[in-house]
Amino acid sequence: MQGAVLGDIMGSMYERTPIKTKDFTLFSAGSRFTDDTVLTLAVAEAILTGSPYAPLFKSWARRYPRAGYGQRFALWALSEDALPGNSFGNGSAMRVSPVGWAFDDLETVLAEAARSAEPTHNHPEAIAAAQAVAGAVFLARSGKDKKDIRQFAAERLGCDMTRTVEGIRPGYRFSSSAAQSVPEAIIAFLDSTSFEDAVRNAISLGGDADTQACIAGALAEAFYGPVPEVFMTRLQTYLPPEGLRVMEAFVERYCGPERQRKRIMAS
Ligand SMILES: [Mg+2]
Repeated sequence: MQGAVLGDIMGSMYERTPIKTKDFTLFSAGSRFTDDTVLTLAVAEAILTGSPYAPLFKSWARRYPRAGYGQRFALWALSEDALPGNSFGNGSAMRVSPVGWAFDDLETVLAEAARSAEPTHNHPEAIAAAQAVAGAVFLARSGKDKKDIRQFAAERLGCDMTRTVEGIRPGYRFSSSAAQSVPEAIIAFLDSTSFEDAVRNAISLGGDADTQACIAGALAEAFYGPVPEVFMTRLQTYLPPEGLRVMEAFVERYCGPERQRKRIMAS
């Protein structure tokens, strides 16, 4: 899940000022963690403590109110009611990566991804997007190759996953809908050669940069193995203590070497 958080931080500068190049600074003075990180941490804490998702989404969002939530989510987070929101945005996919680490078969991963989406993103496209990301994380860390992951995502999302970053980039525009941003974020990973390359691909689309880099970064970490140490050192400087605590507890319990079969097989 560090890959997700790093992708969010690296993309945070480029959400409002989109770029169409892979040549840019990964960390700058205005870089920060955003809603993608806050809610990924909420999902991780829900899994760690066995708590329902909705109250944790609300409590994390209330503690970090300026992280850039969608308007509907912000209203939901402040309200006392727990009625499910019907969003078809990419919020369910940006926060779901811990699910792909914590559960040990694809069926359970997909069911849990849907549960994590339902409080706010109870729309078929948002549920499918969450399942595609969590399932792809699971397959990647389980040693599946990109061909399998591409096919899984295409079936789950019902869209053309043979597209490339180079092909998508020229005509791509910002969209925070799940259907128009999550497939492209997954392609950013599929087209990559490393963790950093996946994040650069995602941001270079010129779209919802932090969210797409968060998703691509999560997949890249699951596929290529732990993110480079130099990025981990930077990560420590961005997160508040409670965020670091949840992340470290989650990684210790769910991301140990025995759960990184890809890396073990490759080495
Ligand atoms: Mg964000």
